[in-house]
Amino acid sequence: MSNASSKPVSHSSENDSPEHFQPGDSPLQPLDSPFLARAGIQLFIKRDDLIHPDFGGNKWRKLKYNLVEARRHKHNTLLTFGGAWSNHIHATAAAGRHFGFNTIGLIRGEETDTPSPTLRTAADNGMQLHFLDRQRYRQKNQPDFLRALTKQYHNPYILPEGGSNSLALQGCAEIVDEIETRGQAFDIICSASGTGATLAGLITRLKSGQRAIGFSALKGGDFLNDEVRRFLREGSGQTNTKQTTIGQPDWSIETRFHFGGYARASDQLLDFIRRFHRQYGIMLDVVYTGKMFYGLWQMIKAGEFPRGSRIIVLHSGGLQGNAGFDL
Ligand SMILES: *Cc1c(COP(=O)(O)O)cnc(C)c1O
Repeated sequence: MSNASSKPVSHSSENDSPEHFQPGDSPLQPLDSPFLARAGIQLFIKRDDLIHPDFGGNKWRKLKYNLVEARRHKHNTLLTFGGAWSNHIHATAAAGRHFGFNTIGLIRGEETDTPSPTLRTAADNGMQLHFLDRQRYRQKNQPDFLRALTKQYHNPYILPEGGSNSLALQGCAEIVDEIETRGQAFDIICSASGTGATLAGLITRLKSGQRAIGFSALKGGDFLNDEVRRFLREGSGQTNTKQTTIGQPDWSIETRFHFGGYARASDQLLDFIRRFHRQYGIMLDVVYTGKMFYGLWQMIKAGEFPRGSRIIVLHSGGLQGNAGFDL
């Protein structure tokens, strides 16, 4: 890549392609627990958080085919959007460094005197950070604004907020493929949801009798129903995300467990995360997976799943964001 030498922090090797990149394994771990045994539930955690220390989780799944596409079209630079604690900003900066792309992050809000650990790490990974006030940030999906950015930053590959687009679905669909390859049958698969793209990717691979549940990390998560449907419509143009489901895929959005809204937490949630870690040795993030597991545990307690249910829960990573909480 012609600009790699001008990039002070690049560690990329020219042959390292995102398509064939073998990050760490994402094992499927059975969770042994008297609580689950009493409810007659068999539960497995798909450990995407273990894929890579810097760009693991669903954010790698969403980046993968976007990076393949960016490279195919010879883009040197990735440009994307996010808040000061965004897992997507964090992952894009780290993956960009790994694969030899320059990265530009357009960050929502005013620059503060002390940058968040997320932004500090992103900058250390070579990401150029620019701050957009909330009004300008709101234009992040508008064609005119994107055209202006394309010109201003010399034709970067533009990733939407959260990395959520049709190519993201293709990467997330591979989560289900990996579970199939292991031969693990399941009835229900759960994912934490922000934009709904990860859930949509999982849904494209559901077989009849299987169900997906997205746990909204945001207040008023009903909007996710439309978003998931939109992703599924747009994604069906992509050959690798064609619905393999026979009949209508079965999925729903769980909106009860937002804890007051995006990145809001309560002592109850933080306590749950601490106890979960002590009991099972698995750390959850506060913004997404903590709320999902909390909600799922409530639903299991309330008997919302028949005995004998086999549930797979996606640990989508996000642990870097915990630096903002007192855990
Ligand atoms: C971004 C993120 C999500 C939400 O993914 P969407 O595809 O936007 O719904 C879930 N979990 C974690 C840890 C995330 O970082």
